[in-house]
Amino acid sequence: RHSPIATVNPYNNQLVREFPPMSREAVDNAAQNAQHAFQSWRRVGVDERATLVGRAARLLRERGEELAQLVTLEMGKLIGHSRAEMDLSARILQYCADEGPGLLADEPLELDGGSAAVVNDPLGVIVGAQPWNFPVYQVVRFAGPNLVLGNTILLKHASNTPQTALAMERLFTDAGIPQGVYTNLLITGSEVDRVVELDVVRGASLTGSERGGASVGASAGRNMKKSVLELGGSDPFIVLDGDNLDHTVDAAMAGRMHNMGQSCVSAKRMIVMSSAFDRFVTEFAQRMRALQPGDPADEATTLAPLSSERAAEKLSDQVLDALDKGAIAVVGGGRVDRPGAFVQPTVLVGVTPMMRAFHEELFGPVAVVYQVHSDDEAVEVANDSPYGLGGAVFGSDPARARSVARRIDSGMVWINHPTSSEPNLPFGGIKLSGYGRELSSIGFKEFANRKLVVTM
Ligand code: NDP
Repeated sequence: RHSPIATVNPYNNQLVREFPPMSREAVDNAAQNAQHAFQSWRRVGVDERATLVGRAARLLRERGEELAQLVTLEMGKLIGHSRAEMDLSARILQYCADEGPGLLADEPLELDGGSAAVVNDPLGVIVGAQPWNFPVYQVVRFAGPNLVLGNTILLKHASNTPQTALAMERLFTDAGIPQGVYTNLLITGSEVDRVVELDVVRGASLTGSERGGASVGASAGRNMKKSVLELGGSDPFIVLDGDNLDHTVDAAMAGRMHNMGQSCVSAKRMIVMSSAFDRFVTEFAQRMRALQPGDPADEATTLAPLSSERAAEKLSDQVLDALDKGAIAVVGGGRVDRPGAFVQPTVLVGVTPMMRAFHEELFGPVAVVYQVHSDDEAVEVANDSPYGLGGAVFGSDPARARSVARRIDSGMVWINHPTSSEPNLPFGGIKLSGYGRELSSIGFKEFANRKLVVTM
C-alpha cells in the first residue's frame, strides 16, 4: 500500500509518486510561521500585496502548459479542459490584483456630528481545504483574495493532487510572496480539524464533500471561527421549450460533461418540458454516445477517466442502484471495458425518489432527465433536492425564463447558459451546498474583519 498522499494516474491507475504526510510537529510549526508572517504581511500595503498577486498571475500564464499537463496526469481531465482551467485561474489572479485594492477600500458611512467608515482588515491565518476537481482554480480563488486582503494561508490540497499543490506553493513563492504567507500542508483530510482548532487559525474554507464540510464547519463553529463551505450540488438544467434545441443540447453537453461531469455546478438534472422531451433525450443521448475514451493528454480524446478508481466505483454503484430499481439507461449504464477509471457516458430516464440518483450528487458523466408539464412542475422538481448551488434555465421567452429562474432555490442561476464561473461573479450556494461566497466583491470580504471606525 502506498501513502494516502500520492499521484495515481487515473488513465491507467498506476502509482506515479507518493509523499509522506507531514508530522504534527511540522504542521504546528507551519501554523506558527504563518502567524508570525501575518504580523508583517498585514502591514505590507494592499497595493504591494496586489502587485505580488499580479506577478503570480503572470507566472501562472507562463507555466500554464506545464501545470495543465500535471493536472491531467494527477486527476485525469482532458488536456483542453486543463488548459481552460489555467486560463480562468490566471484571470482570477489578475482580477484580484487589479480590483482587490478598490474592493477593499474604506467604505465611508453617514453619521451625524462625525464621520464613520468600515475598513477591511485581515483576520489572520486561514486554512483552505481544496478538492482535486479544479486543482488550480480552487487554489487561486481561495488564495488570491486572501493574499490581497492580508491574510496568511495554510493550504491543504486533496491527497490525490500533491504535485499540483506543491507547484502552486512554488508559484506563489516565486512570485515573491514572503515565507510563511502561503504554506502547503501535505496532510490527509482527517488531520484538518486539528489544524482548524489551533489557536492561531482564524478561519477555514473548504470546497468538497458534505462530509468534509460538516466536519470543518463544526470544528470552526466550536472554536468561534468563521467558515466558508462550498460543497456539492445537483444543479437543475430546465428546458422550457424546444426552440433552438441544438443550442440547448450543446449547452447541456457542456454543462454536464465539462471536466467529465466532476464539477459542483455541473448540470446534473435535466428537467425538460414534455413538448421538447423526446427530441431532447434523443439528441442529448446521441451526443453522449459519440464520446471516445482515450488518454486525456491526447487532444483527440473526448471521454476522460474520472479522477480515481474510487470515484468511478461510487458513480457506477449509483447508476446500478437506479437500474436495479427500474430506471432506464438510454445510453451507457456501465463501466468502459478498458483499464483506468472510465465510466460510460450515461443518460438515465425514469428515475424516482426510491433511487440514490434522485437525491445524491452524480459526480461524473451521468445525467438524469425528468419530464415535466408546466413551469410550476419544473420549479418543484428543481427544488426537490437537498442541494442548492447553481442552476440553468433555457427558453425562448426571456420573461418566462427569468420568472422560473427567480423561483429556483440556489445560490446562482444562469439563463440560456450553463452555470459557470467568472472572477467578478459571486460563487456559492445554500442548503447542503454550503454557505458563504467566493470570488467577486462578496467573496473578497468573507475573511475580512469589516471593522467600524468612528471619529466624533
Ligand atoms: P472530499 O470532501 O473528501 O475532498 C475535498 C477536500 O477536503 C480534500 O482536500 C480532502 O482531503 C478534504 N477532506 C476530506 N475529509 C475531510 C475532513 N473530514 N475534514 C476536512 N477536510 C477533509 O471529497 P472527495 O474527493 O472524497 O469527493 C467525494 C464527493 O465530494 C464527490 O463525489 C463530490 O460529490 C463531492 N465533491 C465536491 C466538490 C465540489 O467542487 N464542491 C469537489 C470534490 C468533491 P483528502 O483528499 O486528503 O481526503
